[in-house]
Amino acid sequence: MQKIPTQEIRPDNLDSRVFNLYEKREKIYTRGVEGFFQRIRLLTGWPLLLGYFLLPWINIDGRQAVLFDLPARQFHILWLTFWPQDFVLLGWLLAIAAFALFFVTTLWGRVWCGYTCPQTVWTAIFMWAEQFAEGERNQRIKLDKVPSILTPRGWNKAGLIKTWKRLLKHSMWLGFAALTGITFIGYFYGIRDLVIDSISWQLPLVAASWVVFFTLATYINAGWMREQVCIYMCPYARFQSVMFDRDTLVISYDESRGEQRGPRRRDADYKKEGLGDCIDCTMCVQVCPTGIDIRDGLQYQCIGCAACIDACDDIMEKMHYPKGLISYTTQNKLAGGSWTWKRPKLIGYGAALLVMTLLFATALWLRVPLNTEVIRDRGVLYQELANGNIENVFTLRIINMDRQAQTFQVSLNGLSDATLLPGNQFDVEAGEIRDVLLRVQAPASALSGSNQLIEFLVESADQRLRSSSESRFLGPQPVPTRGTSP
Ligand code: SF4
Ligand code: SF4
Repeated sequence: MQKIPTQEIRPDNLDSRVFNLYEKREKIYTRGVEGFFQRIRLLTGWPLLLGYFLLPWINIDGRQAVLFDLPARQFHILWLTFWPQDFVLLGWLLAIAAFALFFVTTLWGRVWCGYTCPQTVWTAIFMWAEQFAEGERNQRIKLDKVPSILTPRGWNKAGLIKTWKRLLKHSMWLGFAALTGITFIGYFYGIRDLVIDSISWQLPLVAASWVVFFTLATYINAGWMREQVCIYMCPYARFQSVMFDRDTLVISYDESRGEQRGPRRRDADYKKEGLGDCIDCTMCVQVCPTGIDIRDGLQYQCIGCAACIDACDDIMEKMHYPKGLISYTTQNKLAGGSWTWKRPKLIGYGAALLVMTLLFATALWLRVPLNTEVIRDRGVLYQELANGNIENVFTLRIINMDRQAQTFQVSLNGLSDATLLPGNQFDVEAGEIRDVLLRVQAPASALSGSNQLIEFLVESADQRLRSSSESRFLGPQPVPTRGTSP
């Protein structure tokens, strides 16, 4: 198995440094950047944001399109309603999502992290708010050095401006975090009810606490922790290198072209001076949200945001050098080879993904939104009626998982001449679980033994929904007929 080695960058004076396991975070002042890949990130980030915030407001058949109704134990996703009985499907869905992620990672590296991961998208919004309130990188560095409002010498005007900018930034962060928290809980509580109950101070304490929790979680994750979530908390960042091979797309600095790095005049014949294309401007480091230097090689901290590509391409353009000193490439390409899709890992993940998707689609297609259960009355085994019939009592549970009310017809197999009381037709509302007490009566002569297998068949009027459940019909020991041994 070929793997791209990841490398941990440590300072040269390693021996003289004491490592602290809980090292203090060094603040990263990220420079704003524009370019081709940042525009693509906007195109992927906006639909995600809009989808997240608008989806709960869309109704389908008079019900919130995506609603995880935990008290009712029902998940409404677009036109489908999933019940606890469908959790196998949910498990499959998670397995499909995992294999899709493995497949995409083997093919395109950390494209999920860089373009669609909610942590990345939300952090980008928070960074934009920070830049809006406090200015560009250099202004933020300067602002941090400004003393607070009150100094030993008295009031400080610059400190006042600093406080105002900080207030603005944190208000924007908290506002967006609150919007995120409310929307998230809206997927479980119902967004309209949540807003109405919040405005009228009717929101239950549990729901309000969850809103506050997710607001704070968003504020801390995207505002304060940012890249630390990716580096220290995200498990995917840790094991994604297992999926990489030498043909996985990675963001890489072309060392053979860039070195020897160094400053030079724009019109200088730098090749004669023994210099490569890297002018050592550190723009690629300044725009990096995780604060790494991609020129040191592939590092697990790199989230694949491509900001360094856009920054370096801009510099290359200004220097009239060819773009692509930092680019999407593969280890094989960097070594002079070519890319291929014929890789065991990629084919394996792809095949598993295809098979699981087909199986899931088939299961979804064949899924019947009706479930039944039969429970025998445990108090009385059977009853012998005056007319000589034998009676057993059952509770038939009909779970109508359809989105429409249905009239169900119940019939019995395995017991001839049986009568169902109080009847054999029952109305069940959409999403209702109805327990029906059924008395089953049959002549003693119809019994072939004292314990007989029977089947309750439940069918909707249009015969679209059908489900059956088995139970046992009990009766007295049949009297042996003359001539047979006891
Ligand atoms: S942005 Fe490009 S030229 Fe500037 S330091 Fe980075 S790799 Fe070198
Ligand atoms: S090294 Fe480049 S791609 Fe990786 S996180 Fe930093 S800026 Fe983004």
